[in-house]
Amino acid sequence: MKRRLTLHFPREAVHQPITYRLAVDFDIAAKILRAQIAPNQSGTMVVELSGDIDELEAAEVWLESQGLALNRAPGEIRIDAERCVDCGICTAICPSGALRCEAPAWRLQFEADRCLVCEQCIPSCPLDAIALVLDQP
Ligand code: SF4
Ligand code: SF4
Repeated sequence: MKRRLTLHFPREAVHQPITYRLAVDFDIAAKILRAQIAPNQSGTMVVELSGDIDELEAAEVWLESQGLALNRAPGEIRIDAERCVDCGICTAICPSGALRCEAPAWRLQFEADRCLVCEQCIPSCPLDAIALVLDQP
């Protein structure tokens, strides 16, 4: 299964080979979707982890034991096609390229696999066409 996490690194943890350890110790593939880590400073990384559910749980416990704070994506982004007028405003906000509006069609395209669930696009839409749909508990 896959799990998307935001990892917050304290300064003392930024040099750890996190993705290597996840692969070797937990057999988890870590795809880095976004990273903002400067040397010797705290940082943030959005990763998509793929692996066995038990290993994912164990890996999260290990990451926290290394001083990292974790946030799980709370749901998924939905676009209301009835409301959307393909203005493209949200595409300028999206940091991952999940939202695109390109020639020749100039219709909004949403690629859920690229979405970081950062929610930045939601307030950008003048027509309230973007919403976060929360995971079921
Ligand atoms: S939540 Fe919106 S802005 Fe953020 S990555 Fe997903 S589509 Fe882009
Ligand atoms: S900002 Fe809203 S109306 Fe404009 S393209 Fe994005 S979802 Fe559609």
